[in-house]
Amino acid sequence: MSTKDFLEKDYYKALGVSKTAKPAEIKAAYRKLARKYHPDANKGDASAEERFKEISEAYSVLSDEKRRKEYDEARSLFGGGFRVPTGQRTGQQGGFGGFDLGDIFGGSGDNSGLGDILGGVFNRGRTTAQNRPRRGTDVETETTLTFGDAIDGTTVALRLTGEGPCPTCHGTGAKAGTVPRMCPSCQGTGQSSRNLGSFGMSEVCKECHGRGLVVDDPCPACTGSGRAMSSRTIQARIPAGVADGQRIKLAGKGAPGERGGPAGDLYVRVHVKPHPVFGRSAANLTVTVPVTFAELTLGAEVKVPSHRGAPVTIRIPPGTPNRRTFTVRGKGVRRKDGTTGNMLVTVEVMVPKDLNSKARSAIEDLREATAGQDPREDLLERAKEA
Ligand SMILES: [Zn+2]
Ligand SMILES: [Zn+2]
Repeated sequence: MSTKDFLEKDYYKALGVSKTAKPAEIKAAYRKLARKYHPDANKGDASAEERFKEISEAYSVLSDEKRRKEYDEARSLFGGGFRVPTGQRTGQQGGFGGFDLGDIFGGSGDNSGLGDILGGVFNRGRTTAQNRPRRGTDVETETTLTFGDAIDGTTVALRLTGEGPCPTCHGTGAKAGTVPRMCPSCQGTGQSSRNLGSFGMSEVCKECHGRGLVVDDPCPACTGSGRAMSSRTIQARIPAGVADGQRIKLAGKGAPGERGGPAGDLYVRVHVKPHPVFGRSAANLTVTVPVTFAELTLGAEVKVPSHRGAPVTIRIPPGTPNRRTFTVRGKGVRRKDGTTGNMLVTVEVMVPKDLNSKARSAIEDLREATAGQDPREDLLERAKEA
């Protein structure tokens, strides 16, 4: 923590308490937030870890009467970014020193173990980012499936390109036959400390840029970064019943972790090619079946296709309206729970473009025979309603 931190960070806001909050209030706010954002409860969530550090830092200052006073004074005196006067030091320097965990989590007699966990976290905070195991990044990719494969599930080969350890130097950044050495400037911590007056100033080591290691002979393949782009092909299992546009998470199939960290996750956006006959609505298959006016009016038995099965016959009762949908149970898509959706068959009248003379005369007879029925009888009247 530095004076710069004091001027830039609003510790009261971080804990969600007022500037006049009593110590008990601050403690309660911290306990609540610390449990919520504790890294063990938010595995792999970098933003929670950031937040956790922020509230811990805020508490370490506001819970200490003397430091809180210093903080309040610093904020009111040189809120505008004045240089810090040289002089007395508080003895606090970086990290979370002087912060009594037992005080927060029940004291020495009644240690729930949370203090130990926190201790681990704080120690982790002292090691440099470069030395810490790091979770691999999440990777996004896309794949296109046939209609049938989306329904049945399939295995696809996915080519993934991403940054990984340089294969030439195995990620060390050092030329073959050499190894990086500990940064002499920061003793491998990646942090350098300067005393700027009231508060210690801790910043990223200029010599090693926070890595804690320096490379004398850089690896020519990666110019010392230790990172390289590579591609790999993996076999990914796509579960049955995926829909077009769906995003599937394949845990642990993302970029590999570093220094023993877990791999990231792979997200696959699925595109499904349309089928010439069938459509999908969740677990139901849809199909539109052309019928004649006579079939709907007089009734008929119609053979309709099912997906990957024998055709089924549906009975159209006389007087069936156009676009009515019939449900054929169990002929849809298999769900995760083992049940199967239905096939929804919609009948649609095809109006013939060309008629032979016999058909034309029959339709003309029909028109004459039904001349008394006006389907638009009350349409104009009903249209007047507000
Ligand atoms: Zn390299
Ligand atoms: Zn260094």
